[in-house]
Amino acid sequence: MNKTHRLYLVLGDQLSFDLASLKGLDAEQDTVLLVEVMEEASHVPHHPQKITLIFSAMRHFAEALKQRGIRVQYVTLDDPHNSGTVPGELRRWQTLLHAEELHLTECGDWRLEQSLKDCGLAIQWHSDSRFLCSRAEFSSWAKDKKQLRMEFFYREMRRKSGLLLNGDGSPVGGSWNFDAENRKALPKGVSPPSPVRFSADAITQEVLALVVKNFSSHYGVLDTFDYPVTHADAQALWDYFLDWGLAAFGDYQDTMASDEPFLFHARISAALNIGLLDLRELCNDVEAAYWAHRIPLNAAEGFIRQLIGWREYVRGVYWLKMPEYAGGNLFGNSRPLPEFYWTGATKMNCMSQAIGQSLKHAYAHHIQRLMVTGNFALLAGIVPSQICDWYLAIYMDAFDWVELPNTLGMVMHADGGYVGSKPYCASGQYIKRMSDYCRNCAYKVSESTTHDACPFNSLYWHFLMRHGDLLRGNQRMSMIYKNLDRMPESRQQALWQRGQFLLAKLDEGESF
Ligand code: FAD
Ligand code: SF4
Repeated sequence: MNKTHRLYLVLGDQLSFDLASLKGLDAEQDTVLLVEVMEEASHVPHHPQKITLIFSAMRHFAEALKQRGIRVQYVTLDDPHNSGTVPGELRRWQTLLHAEELHLTECGDWRLEQSLKDCGLAIQWHSDSRFLCSRAEFSSWAKDKKQLRMEFFYREMRRKSGLLLNGDGSPVGGSWNFDAENRKALPKGVSPPSPVRFSADAITQEVLALVVKNFSSHYGVLDTFDYPVTHADAQALWDYFLDWGLAAFGDYQDTMASDEPFLFHARISAALNIGLLDLRELCNDVEAAYWAHRIPLNAAEGFIRQLIGWREYVRGVYWLKMPEYAGGNLFGNSRPLPEFYWTGATKMNCMSQAIGQSLKHAYAHHIQRLMVTGNFALLAGIVPSQICDWYLAIYMDAFDWVELPNTLGMVMHADGGYVGSKPYCASGQYIKRMSDYCRNCAYKVSESTTHDACPFNSLYWHFLMRHGDLLRGNQRMSMIYKNLDRMPESRQQALWQRGQFLLAKLDEGESF
């Protein structure tokens, strides 16, 4: 009897052997299709290292599937018949292979999923089981709630996964969240582990050459590429973190230090997001390390909260709210993204450090993204879609479902408060407390209105003054506005004028 020939399209961020859509694959009969296409590599100017990571990991995954006896059709970017788009390639290969069924796991990008749904092909869709919470489950949790809060969602995920629970279902340590114990500054004498690096094999070398040839106009350094591109290397990166980083992750999660791009962070987000690591296995390893007394509770809970709390929460919000979500602009911002975001050419040391390492490694950790580059964009009133595109382009781990709610929601508060209950705005004092950046800066963090004053200080108050109508009513902002109201009128005016001066400089295209 003739069996049905199925074609399984696997996207560049779906490189998991147990991907939902591959469950029914018949190795003798069916084909897996992987395609490198120009549209996905260039709809924003992705960092060359990110394109390298994805194409190289795809090529390694294709080889691994072949070794398992699976038939694979692989389309390289420079294939002369490559149509340049995912729907175009799916259509082409359906015709060429006479495939009777097309199978695909749901996408990580609303834009791509919509284009596949609109392309006229009958695709059988599969829910992405790599996440703990499905799209449907999130929307039923969100239903009828006036306000969504990550903390309550996170507790649900703890209960669902059983992670860090006592026998009676209560949280280990008596509290769901040890966030307050994740905010230590880095003391002298504590140094982070050296980052583990992976050298480029022949497949990666080929991809590097392809990227140089096709994407040299994209911003970002390529020759520092050292990320894992196989499941085995991603596992080695994770094991290294378990041994050397995780114990101190809890204490120093929010700290920042000059010329220390990685500190005690795992650097696993890109590998996890493209399917080289498995969420449940990571969480189980962290929990096991806690029960084995290898790591303190603030590290275990802090790490698990990021994975099953924030990561799952932002995905839920994304699929609940797209496509309207992408157009959010609560403050009506109209200022274009300053050029120095693409070059790092600014005298603000914190910005130059965060942008510089992002260009060099396609990486910055959470607090640099939130409280330095993000905070500046919020205070300066940058157009949300422009700063979102920057994050999507520059970071190795950036995919729309995770980048957009983090940037548009958490950083820019442009969604009106779905992701964060208040804007994460801060003056230079926060950056001074959590880093050593201010010690080597051209600006004085102790000053707010002088010619050499830290720009974050006046821009912070300017932001609060210009958006008082929208923010004064927020309970969590009331103390801040009390401080503003207590300020003498002359001080308020001086801060406003200094803020105006800096914003005018940005409008003239100048850096400072
Ligand atoms: P660690 O600090 O070691 O954290 C462990 C893991 O927790 C991460 O690997 C990640 O998978 C998860 N995680 C932590 N915080 C978040 C979060 N807020 N949302 C989702 N997952 C989280 N993360 C991405 O994976 N892709 C993005 O495009 C992305 N864009 C961001 C944009 C902004 C403006 C901000 C503030 C954060 C963004 N994040 C994004 C979240 C976070 O910054 C990165 O996941 C983290 O820096 C990755 O480095 P790491 O693996 O060393 O993480
Ligand atoms: Fe950044 Fe201001 Fe500190 Fe300079 S003084 S590093 S601009 S916070």
